[in-house]
Amino acid sequence: SKTPLTLLGLGAMGAALAGSWLAAGHPLTVWNRTAARSGALAARGAAVAATAAEAVAANRLVVVCLLDDASVEEALAGADLTGKDVVNLVTSTPGTARARAALVTARGARYLDGGIMAVPPMIGVPQAGPYVFYSGSRELFEEHGATLAAPAGTRYVGEDASFAALHDVALLSAMYGMFAGVAHAFALVRDESVDPRALAPLLSSWLVAMTGSVEATAGRLASGDYTGDVVSDLAMQVAGVPTFLRTAEERGVSTELLSPYFELMQRRLAADPARHGGEDLTGVIDLLRV
Ligand code: NDP
Repeated sequence: SKTPLTLLGLGAMGAALAGSWLAAGHPLTVWNRTAARSGALAARGAAVAATAAEAVAANRLVVVCLLDDASVEEALAGADLTGKDVVNLVTSTPGTARARAALVTARGARYLDGGIMAVPPMIGVPQAGPYVFYSGSRELFEEHGATLAAPAGTRYVGEDASFAALHDVALLSAMYGMFAGVAHAFALVRDESVDPRALAPLLSSWLVAMTGSVEATAGRLASGDYTGDVVSDLAMQVAGVPTFLRTAEERGVSTELLSPYFELMQRRLAADPARHGGEDLTGVIDLLRV
């Protein structure tokens, strides 16, 4: 029979998680601050607890998917965590995740932190490729891995409870950098005869073609060699910067999204043109470590 579990939080993500566990046949106890949100799940067989403490008491495995760190603290404050397996899926900083692991462990529970790499419609839809990063108690993960795999794939990234959040935030940070570049590109063509819908497929296939740089950068960071097999070197790319800035100016577009990156490229080159001119862009990463 399937492992029973408790879920605290039935927002957009919590409700999606709950649906996938019920669909997979897990006995589920739910709690939500606003009781009305439990109705649809109760109709599908979920047990509804009146308080967070009561929900925690119902099962050994307790998954938390509330809004933020404050709501997690509040919800767990009155609960007896002795002997519990607590899995937190609220996005937090690595430092907060580590501190929560210490607090929860001190209250007698095992702790696993998660970072969800999906939006609610992807939950319970394996072909969408969603997954959750997990870090913290390896025993907890090994014991409940199959249950945790019902809503989405699982990737255990280490016993340090901060690692799931670290991986989550690293991936999302890269995503925001990509969004920034896309915003600048659309701003450049806005109000011209270029139809944004015609630019879109060109832009997305170009971004996909450029993703090879991720592996290349990782290889350079690992080897410490930033110069071998460089296709577009830093000296050439820095020479091209004024073209990007002047184009933005001609088009009446702010350079505030692009300039910080260009400034780092220029700073790396200026530090030692003879040495860094033949590198790719990996040296920028060293400048970011302050
Ligand atoms: P929602 O805003 O849809 O839901 C928030 C949930 O938190 C509700 O159940 C709400 O209860 C509850 N809540 C808020 N404040 C409190 C409080 N003070 N005490 C008790 N409960 C409270 O958020 P999501 O479900 O979308 O997100 C939940 C978590 O999942 C977040 O940490 C988010 O980072 C993470 N996540 C979400 C993704 C997404 O795309 N949605 C993607 C990846 C991660 P009530 O119904 O009473 O308001």
